[in-house]
Amino acid sequence: MAKGKNILHHCVHCERVTKMEVIGAVENQPEKTWYRCTRCRHATLVDLEALKQSQQDAKKKLDKSQCLEYKPENTYSVGEAIFHSEWDDIGKIISKVRTSGGGRAIVVSFEKLGERRLMESVVRNGEDNQ
Ligand SMILES: [Zn+2]
Repeated sequence: MAKGKNILHHCVHCERVTKMEVIGAVENQPEKTWYRCTRCRHATLVDLEALKQSQQDAKKKLDKSQCLEYKPENTYSVGEAIFHSEWDDIGKIISKVRTSGGGRAIVVSFEKLGERRLMESVVRNGEDNQ
């Protein structure tokens, strides 16, 4: 048995994800490849670009229930996912910065709004002695 580039893909004949082996490329369509289901031996045309894209999308998608609700007085870490109730948007913290006023802020990449800077570790008035 030759060791080709096997992939796991949904076979329409088996109606399940099966192991598939490469048969050959498609002329004029470099992103598409013929694969054969090792279970039922049926050939399937697989669009590898679309497959890769959908896998990346699935990985990127944030689940709202796994997000922390954003509150200015909280402190966050890079990589954490947060939910902004006022904007109804979720995003991932990509970095942390110091504001010009000496405060702390997080840079969040929101799904709908894009990149936004939000204050964190905000000390409520009256708690600090000036
Ligand atoms: Zn099959």
